[in-house]
This record gives sequence, structure tokens and C-alpha cells, in this order.
Amino acid sequence: MINRTFTMIKPDATLKGHTGAILKIINDAGFRIIAMKMTHLSKIKAAQFYEVHKERPFYKELVEFMSRGPITAAILEKENAVEEFRKLIGATNPAQADEGTIRKLFATSVGENAIHGSDSDDNARIESDFFFSKLEQF
Ligand code: GDP
Repeated sequence: MINRTFTMIKPDATLKGHTGAILKIINDAGFRIIAMKMTHLSKIKAAQFYEVHKERPFYKELVEFMSRGPITAAILEKENAVEEFRKLIGATNPAQADEGTIRKLFATSVGENAIHGSDSDDNARIESDFFFSKLEQF
């Protein structure tokens, strides 16, 4: 089934100039970009986006990190998009990520891991709507 996932190229990858290379990998893997924007999350916005993690010990660090520099947010479409995209980005911790995955190539630690990918269809919808109005989703 053709469905959608949501991604962000995180500030570590943005600040190191990896945005173009990461978008090429996503494109070459057959994902269709149906919405995209570059923006800089405030601490308040980053805290809202990651609210599900607010009890986790790394929450404050995550919010600081995600508001440190610009991100590129995008909605992607492909058959089995959520699962296929999680495969393409690799494990949360780059030390455990498979060769050739985006996190293996560009992440430096479990926190600064270059890219986000939704973990379910429901979260993909919620996360997409956080950044994009219906008029911005093609
Ligand atoms: P994901 O679905 O692979 O992104 O992983 P999670 O949902 O478990 O965590 C969300 C994000 O929080 C991760 O992508 C990391 O940026 C960050 N994170 C997860 N675990 C840690 C940790 O142990 N330390 C820090 N600093 N950040 C973490």
C-alpha cells in the first residue's frame, strides 16, 4: 500500500552540510517528496514535537539539540513508507546501524543521529500536520 512517512534532517546533519546528500539518498531509494521546508525549531516547538519523550532522561538534551540549528522537514510517499524509511535511516544508535544507512553514514551518536523517521502511520500523520497545512501537502 502506498503510504506516507515524515522525516526531519536534524541540525547536526544540516550544520555539517549533508542536506543535499541525504535528500539524494532518499530520492534514489524511491521516496516521493510531497512536502518539504527548511526551518529552525524554537525550544518550545522542539519540546512540543518530542513531548512523548518528556519523561526520558535525555529529553532536555534532545530539545537543546533539535533547536541548535536549521532542520529540513519533509513528507515522503512510497509503498510501505514508514517501515521502508526506518530501514533506510538505520538504528537510533549509529554504532548499531547497518552499513549504507543514513545514520551509519552521517550520525555521530545516539542523540546526534542526523535524521528522524516516523515510527507508525499514526505518528506520520500527526508529525506531518505539525509542520504542514493540507495546502502544503502535494
Ligand atoms: P528514533 O525513533 O530512532 O528517532 O528513536 P527514539 O524515538 O527512541 O528517540 C528519539 C530521538 O531522541 C532519537 O532519534 C535521538 O535523537 C534522541 N535520543 C534517543 N536516545 C537518546 C539518548 O540516550 N541520549 C540522547 N542524548 N538522545 C537520545
